[in-house]
Amino acid sequence: MVMKTIGVIGGMSWESSAEYYRLLNRNTKARLGGHHNARSLMVTVDFAGVEALQRAGDWNALGAQMAEAAMQLERGGAGIVLLATNTMHRVCAAIEAAIAVPFLHIADPTGAALKAAGVTCAGLLGTRYTMELDFYVGRLHGRHGIEAVVPGKQDREDVHRIIYDELCHGIVKDESRRVYQRVIEDLEARGAQAVILGCTEITLLIGAGDSALPVFDTTALHAQAAVDWAIEG
Ligand code: GLU
Repeated sequence: MVMKTIGVIGGMSWESSAEYYRLLNRNTKARLGGHHNARSLMVTVDFAGVEALQRAGDWNALGAQMAEAAMQLERGGAGIVLLATNTMHRVCAAIEAAIAVPFLHIADPTGAALKAAGVTCAGLLGTRYTMELDFYVGRLHGRHGIEAVVPGKQDREDVHRIIYDELCHGIVKDESRRVYQRVIEDLEARGAQAVILGCTEITLLIGAGDSALPVFDTTALHAQAAVDWAIEG
Protein backbone atom coordinates (compact mmCIF):
# COMPACT_ATOMS: atom_id res chain seq x y z
CA MET A 1 0.00 0.00 0.00
CA VAL A 2 1.42 3.37 -1.01
CA MET A 3 -0.09 6.24 0.89
CA LYS A 4 -0.55 9.38 -1.17
CA THR A 5 0.63 12.79 -0.01
CA ILE A 6 -1.99 15.21 1.33
CA GLY A 7 -1.29 18.89 0.60
CA VAL A 8 -2.79 21.48 2.94
CA ILE A 9 -3.09 25.22 2.42
CA GLY A 10 -2.88 26.35 6.03
CA GLY A 11 -2.46 29.39 8.21
CA MET A 12 -6.07 30.56 8.18
CA SER A 13 -5.65 30.49 11.04
CA TRP A 14 -2.68 28.40 12.15
CA GLU A 15 -4.70 27.45 15.26
CA SER A 16 -6.99 25.38 13.04
CA SER A 17 -4.13 24.19 10.80
CA ALA A 18 -2.58 22.64 13.91
CA GLU A 19 -5.86 20.71 14.38
CA TYR A 20 -5.67 19.50 10.79
CA TYR A 21 -2.12 18.32 11.31
CA ARG A 22 -3.10 16.44 14.44
CA LEU A 23 -6.19 14.89 12.82
CA LEU A 24 -4.47 13.83 9.59
CA ASN A 25 -1.85 11.98 11.57
CA ARG A 26 -4.17 10.61 14.25
CA ASN A 27 -6.71 9.31 11.71
CA THR A 28 -4.00 7.70 9.60
CA LYS A 29 -2.63 5.93 12.65
CA ALA A 30 -6.16 4.82 13.59
CA ARG A 31 -6.54 3.20 10.17
CA LEU A 32 -3.07 1.77 9.64
CA GLY A 33 -1.80 1.29 13.20
CA GLY A 34 1.80 1.00 14.33
CA HIS A 35 4.00 4.00 13.66
CA HIS A 36 1.97 5.15 10.67
CA ASN A 37 1.18 8.81 10.20
CA ALA A 38 -0.05 10.83 7.23
CA ARG A 39 2.28 11.78 4.40
CA SER A 40 1.60 15.48 4.17
CA LEU A 41 2.79 18.90 3.10
CA MET A 42 1.52 22.21 4.40
CA VAL A 43 1.99 25.65 2.88
CA THR A 44 1.25 28.22 5.57
CA VAL A 45 0.20 31.64 4.35
CA ASP A 46 0.35 34.74 6.54
CA PHE A 47 -3.17 35.29 7.84
CA ALA A 48 -2.62 39.04 8.44
CA GLY A 49 -2.58 39.75 4.72
CA VAL A 50 -5.43 37.34 4.01
CA GLU A 51 -7.68 38.87 6.67
CA ALA A 52 -7.02 42.40 5.34
CA LEU A 53 -7.89 41.36 1.77
CA GLN A 54 -11.09 39.68 3.01
CA ARG A 55 -12.16 42.91 4.70
CA ALA A 56 -11.32 44.85 1.53
CA GLY A 57 -13.39 42.36 -0.48
CA ASP A 58 -10.45 41.68 -2.81
CA TRP A 59 -11.32 38.07 -3.61
CA ASN A 60 -9.36 38.20 -6.88
CA ALA A 61 -6.11 38.82 -5.02
CA LEU A 62 -7.02 36.11 -2.53
CA GLY A 63 -7.76 33.68 -5.36
CA ALA A 64 -4.33 34.36 -6.88
CA GLN A 65 -2.66 33.83 -3.49
CA MET A 66 -4.48 30.55 -2.84
CA ALA A 67 -3.74 29.34 -6.39
CA GLU A 68 -0.04 30.04 -5.82
CA ALA A 69 -0.05 28.05 -2.59
CA ALA A 70 -1.86 25.16 -4.28
CA MET A 71 0.74 25.10 -7.08
CA GLN A 72 3.53 25.04 -4.49
CA LEU A 73 1.90 21.95 -2.94
CA GLU A 74 1.51 20.28 -6.32
CA ARG A 75 5.16 20.97 -7.20
CA GLY A 76 6.11 19.48 -3.85
CA GLY A 77 4.38 16.22 -4.68
CA ALA A 78 0.92 16.56 -3.12
CA GLY A 79 -1.58 14.18 -4.70
CA ILE A 80 -4.58 16.11 -3.40
CA VAL A 81 -5.05 19.66 -2.13
CA LEU A 82 -7.07 20.76 0.91
CA LEU A 83 -7.84 24.35 1.82
CA ALA A 84 -7.99 24.37 5.63
CA THR A 85 -10.62 27.11 5.95
CA ASN A 86 -14.27 27.24 4.94
CA THR A 87 -14.25 30.96 4.16
CA MET A 88 -11.52 30.82 1.57
CA HIS A 89 -13.51 28.31 -0.46
CA ARG A 90 -15.09 31.47 -1.84
CA VAL A 91 -12.12 31.32 -4.28
CA CYS A 92 -11.98 27.56 -4.89
CA ALA A 93 -12.44 28.03 -8.65
CA ALA A 94 -9.08 29.82 -8.84
CA ILE A 95 -7.42 26.93 -7.02
CA GLU A 96 -9.04 24.25 -9.16
CA ALA A 97 -7.98 26.05 -12.33
CA ALA A 98 -4.36 26.21 -11.17
CA ILE A 99 -3.67 22.54 -10.39
CA ALA A 100 -4.06 19.17 -12.08
CA VAL A 101 -4.42 17.13 -8.86
CA PRO A 102 -7.83 16.89 -7.16
CA PHE A 103 -9.07 19.59 -4.80
CA LEU A 104 -11.15 18.29 -1.89
CA HIS A 105 -13.84 20.91 -1.20
CA ILE A 106 -14.63 21.16 2.52
CA ALA A 107 -18.41 21.34 2.00
CA ASP A 108 -18.50 17.98 0.21
CA PRO A 109 -17.58 15.56 3.02
CA THR A 110 -19.79 17.70 5.28
CA GLY A 111 -22.74 17.53 2.89
CA ALA A 112 -22.25 13.78 2.45
CA ALA A 113 -22.18 13.21 6.21
CA LEU A 114 -25.34 15.28 6.73
CA LYS A 115 -27.11 13.36 3.98
CA ALA A 116 -26.00 10.01 5.40
CA ALA A 117 -27.44 11.09 8.77
CA GLY A 118 -30.78 11.95 7.15
CA VAL A 119 -30.43 15.69 7.80
CA THR A 120 -32.19 17.92 5.27
CA CYS A 121 -32.03 21.22 7.17
CA ALA A 122 -28.87 22.26 9.02
CA GLY A 123 -27.84 25.36 10.94
CA LEU A 124 -24.64 26.96 9.67
CA LEU A 125 -22.09 28.75 11.86
CA GLY A 126 -19.05 30.37 10.30
CA THR A 127 -17.58 33.71 9.37
CA ARG A 128 -19.97 36.28 7.98
CA TYR A 129 -18.57 35.52 4.50
CA THR A 130 -19.50 31.85 4.85
CA MET A 131 -22.91 32.58 6.36
CA GLU A 132 -23.87 35.47 4.07
CA LEU A 133 -22.33 34.90 0.63
CA ASP A 134 -23.76 32.14 -1.55
CA PHE A 135 -20.65 30.02 -2.23
CA TYR A 136 -21.16 27.70 0.76
CA VAL A 137 -24.93 27.61 1.27
CA GLY A 138 -25.35 27.23 -2.50
CA ARG A 139 -22.97 24.27 -2.68
CA LEU A 140 -24.68 22.49 0.22
CA HIS A 141 -28.00 22.94 -1.49
CA GLY A 142 -26.95 22.39 -5.11
CA ARG A 143 -24.73 19.35 -4.60
CA HIS A 144 -26.12 17.78 -1.46
CA GLY A 145 -29.75 18.88 -1.19
CA ILE A 146 -29.13 20.37 2.26
CA GLU A 147 -30.96 23.53 3.24
CA ALA A 148 -28.81 25.75 5.47
CA VAL A 149 -30.27 28.08 8.09
CA VAL A 150 -28.05 30.93 9.30
CA PRO A 151 -28.37 32.96 12.51
CA GLY A 152 -30.00 36.41 12.56
CA LYS A 153 -27.94 39.55 11.92
CA GLN A 154 -26.76 40.32 15.48
CA ASP A 155 -25.95 36.65 16.11
CA ARG A 156 -23.98 36.46 12.87
CA GLU A 157 -21.92 39.45 14.01
CA ASP A 158 -21.20 37.80 17.37
CA VAL A 159 -20.31 34.44 15.80
CA HIS A 160 -17.99 36.20 13.31
CA ARG A 161 -16.34 38.41 15.96
CA ILE A 162 -15.61 35.47 18.24
CA ILE A 163 -13.89 33.65 15.37
CA TYR A 164 -11.58 36.51 14.38
CA ASP A 165 -10.99 38.19 17.76
CA GLU A 166 -10.72 35.05 19.88
CA LEU A 167 -10.52 31.63 18.20
CA CYS A 168 -8.01 32.67 15.51
CA HIS A 169 -5.78 33.84 18.39
CA GLY A 170 -6.28 30.58 20.29
CA ILE A 171 -8.48 32.29 22.90
CA VAL A 172 -11.31 30.03 24.09
CA LYS A 173 -13.79 31.66 26.52
CA ASP A 174 -16.70 30.10 28.41
CA GLU A 175 -18.83 33.18 27.77
CA SER A 176 -18.31 32.79 24.02
CA ARG A 177 -19.23 29.12 24.24
CA ARG A 178 -22.47 30.22 25.88
CA VAL A 179 -23.13 32.65 23.02
CA TYR A 180 -22.69 29.84 20.48
CA GLN A 181 -24.89 27.51 22.54
CA ARG A 182 -27.68 30.07 22.58
CA VAL A 183 -27.33 30.64 18.83
CA ILE A 184 -27.50 26.87 18.23
CA GLU A 185 -30.69 26.66 20.32
CA ASP A 186 -32.18 29.42 18.20
CA LEU A 187 -31.26 27.55 15.00
CA GLU A 188 -32.97 24.46 16.41
CA ALA A 189 -36.12 26.50 17.13
CA ARG A 190 -36.04 27.61 13.49
CA GLY A 191 -36.05 24.04 12.19
CA ALA A 192 -32.40 22.99 12.02
CA GLN A 193 -31.90 19.27 12.71
CA ALA A 194 -28.12 19.61 13.10
CA VAL A 195 -25.47 22.31 13.21
CA ILE A 196 -22.51 22.68 10.84
CA LEU A 197 -19.37 24.02 12.51
CA GLY A 198 -18.60 25.81 9.25
CA CYS A 199 -15.40 27.45 10.35
CA THR A 200 -12.31 25.42 11.08
CA GLU A 201 -11.67 27.08 14.46
CA ILE A 202 -15.12 26.45 15.97
CA THR A 203 -14.02 22.95 16.90
CA LEU A 204 -11.78 24.63 19.51
CA LEU A 205 -14.89 26.06 21.23
CA ILE A 206 -17.77 23.63 20.62
CA GLY A 207 -17.79 19.86 20.87
CA ALA A 208 -20.64 17.38 20.56
CA GLY A 209 -21.35 17.66 24.30
CA ASP A 210 -21.76 21.45 24.15
CA SER A 211 -24.51 21.58 21.56
CA ALA A 212 -28.28 21.08 21.68
CA LEU A 213 -28.06 19.81 18.08
CA PRO A 214 -25.88 17.07 16.57
CA VAL A 215 -22.61 18.66 15.48
CA PHE A 216 -21.03 18.33 12.02
CA ASP A 217 -17.47 19.55 12.40
CA THR A 218 -16.02 20.59 9.04
CA THR A 219 -12.41 20.33 10.27
CA ALA A 220 -12.86 16.73 11.40
CA LEU A 221 -14.90 15.66 8.35
CA HIS A 222 -12.46 17.30 5.90
CA ALA A 223 -9.41 15.73 7.54
CA GLN A 224 -11.06 12.29 7.67
CA ALA A 225 -12.04 12.45 4.00
CA ALA A 226 -8.46 13.37 3.07
CA VAL A 227 -7.04 10.42 5.00
CA ASP A 228 -9.54 8.04 3.41
CA TRP A 229 -8.51 9.35 0.00
CA ALA A 230 -4.77 9.08 0.74
CA ILE A 231 -5.15 5.47 1.78
CA GLU A 232 -7.82 4.27 -0.64
CA GLY A 233 -7.16 6.55 -3.59
N1 GLU B 1 -10.83 29.24 9.52
C1 GLU B 1 -11.99 30.00 9.25
C2 GLU B 1 -12.96 29.28 8.33
O1 GLU B 1 -12.98 28.09 8.30
C3 GLU B 1 -11.93 31.46 9.20
C4 GLU B 1 -10.62 32.12 8.93
C5 GLU B 1 -10.57 32.53 7.50
O2 GLU B 1 -11.07 33.59 7.19
O3 GLU B 1 -10.06 31.81 6.67
O4 GLU B 1 -13.75 29.90 7.67
